Amino acid sequence: MNDAHSFEQARRSIIAVGQRIWRQGWCPATSSNFSQRLDDERCAITVSGRDKGALQDTDIMQVDMQGRSLDGQKPSAETLLHTQLYRRDQSIGAVLHTHSVKATLVSMHADGPVSWQGLELLKAFQGTDSHEGNLTIPVFDNTQDIAALADQVQGWMSVHGTGVAYLIRGHGLYTWGRDMTETLRHLEALEFLLDYYWQTHRLASAGERLMAGDAKA
Ligand SMILES: [Zn+2]
Repeated sequence: MNDAHSFEQARRSIIAVGQRIWRQGWCPATSSNFSQRLDDERCAITVSGRDKGALQDTDIMQVDMQGRSLDGQKPSAETLLHTQLYRRDQSIGAVLHTHSVKATLVSMHADGPVSWQGLELLKAFQGTDSHEGNLTIPVFDNTQDIAALADQVQGWMSVHGTGVAYLIRGHGLYTWGRDMTETLRHLEALEFLLDYYWQTHRLASAGERLMAGDAKA
């Protein structure tokens, strides 16, 4: 595939995925960013501050793997979190970062990594072929110092492996896969799991309140 063809294909795929994610309400108010690997040296990524549900060709730019613009457009502040993943693992072909309500709620509630087990939808993740597997994703504190956050992510992955996703507290979700199709499948499965986690937590808190009420009565 020549360079122009590969960038054009990446643009089409990012625009399509943006419309699909926007319809779900997971990238409100120009938040979020989406990228796709072009080769070892470059990726295509959304330009800072664009409406992700109505992306145009000019809203997708090229950066190198240090997050520097290759075409004069301004990359998102969070570009370094995408390029950290591409540099770390050559098999990663696409990265999706979203700002859903459920990702934000769970990230504010969790006081450590978030885990799931025993759920059929865990099979949506690459390398998991049974509901008996389990999935754990870390939660990092939010910061405007993206280079420091990228270092922190790198440090976690050096110890625990690349995994499939992480949360940033009060902010949102990052997930990735070998290509855009797999990454979107991971995102949709994670949104289901975050919703499940949150609803389970709410039921548990309601049960505790009920028990406390019974104890007082
Ligand atoms: Zn963000």
